[in-house]
Amino acid sequence: MPEQFALVDCNNFYASCERVFNPKLQNKPIVILSNNDGCVVARSNEAKAVGVGMGVPFFKISALIKQHDIQVLSSNYALYGDMSARVMRVIGEFAPEQEVYSIDESFLHLTGMRDLTGVGTQIRTRVKQWLGLPVCVGIAPTKTLAKLCNATAKSYSKLDGVLDYNSLSDERKAKLLQSFDVGDVWGVGRKLKERLRLLGITSAYALRESDAEEMSRRFSVVMKRTITELRGISCIDMENMSEARKQILSSRSFGRPVTELFELEEAVTMYTSRAAEKLRGDGTRANEITVYIRTNPYLDDAYAESATVRFPHPTDDSMMLVKHAVEALRSIYKEGLIYQKAGVTLSNLVSNDGQQLSLFQSQVDNAKSKRMMQALDSTNQKYGRGALFLAGEGTKKAWQIKAEYKTPEYTTSWDDLAVVNAR
Ligand SMILES: [Mg+2]
Repeated sequence: MPEQFALVDCNNFYASCERVFNPKLQNKPIVILSNNDGCVVARSNEAKAVGVGMGVPFFKISALIKQHDIQVLSSNYALYGDMSARVMRVIGEFAPEQEVYSIDESFLHLTGMRDLTGVGTQIRTRVKQWLGLPVCVGIAPTKTLAKLCNATAKSYSKLDGVLDYNSLSDERKAKLLQSFDVGDVWGVGRKLKERLRLLGITSAYALRESDAEEMSRRFSVVMKRTITELRGISCIDMENMSEARKQILSSRSFGRPVTELFELEEAVTMYTSRAAEKLRGDGTRANEITVYIRTNPYLDDAYAESATVRFPHPTDDSMMLVKHAVEALRSIYKEGLIYQKAGVTLSNLVSNDGQQLSLFQSQVDNAKSKRMMQALDSTNQKYGRGALFLAGEGTKKAWQIKAEYKTPEYTTSWDDLAVVNAR
């Protein structure tokens, strides 16, 4: 029996999340700006249609914005993250195995299930009904083909958002592959695309028809795997979800230049707290922390440095992590420089069950720290991020990023809940 996979992907995810809570944005062009309102990171279809490019600086599109009455929003990651978790939960109920591939995409393992197109339609209907978000579903015997089917389902409204590769004739399959540039194939990056072009391989179809053995010698076994997948034989399995993240990264550019050590300490404390929260969410502990700071990299005398501290025993305690992070920061901070960015990485992670208590760490300390961290996390979950934080983060946070056009955190903050007036 051939394998079967679905790729479920939300349409214009960030813009769609915003529309759920503000229906006035329906059918209007929307752009969403990066951290610090710098450039465009997401667009609705309408914004794409009037020619807003991906990644363009905000200031460059002011004429377009006026001309087409484009709605401008700062990114609201608390909202997108929460909506993403909800979508994934709903989608995950349709199959025994799910791989969350990105914030708005997930693979489902459908092998052995019947009426796959029907399953796809059900997924689409349920996500729309329960969450108000539009998704498209691509179904195929390999993950690589499921990706292409998803893209096709998105661009042809006739398909009603679902395309099952298995239902196509050989001729239609060939046509579908001919319609994709070779660079659109999963795993073919820009560099590979150029090399393939030189060999005259410009479409997904041409890649499928190429000599797999020869391509394996010329490129790598990875290329052979991609070709085999295009031929409908699965060689990329579902990623094992139980394998927790190997490292957790938290970094941001500052909203304005930062020079003072105390401000960097506030930022690093906050990033560490966020990373620690994720760590506890995953049920893991870190063995080391790396702190990174840098100035403008385009300056002649640019400065970028990092420092790593290894702990005596793995920990998920925010206060412990922050203590080490600040220590690392102080070892690399240089006075008189203008800093643009800082970041924190927790690495060498171990799962909670496998962790050994150090000889010097008592069970009592461990239990106390666990209770305190639980209180911290549950308070922040209930009352919104930042309701409870370590004093080291500072209360003003003047270095924080700009987000002038941010919508409320509708689903994660009590203060931002929608108000219904009944009078
Ligand atoms: Mg998407």
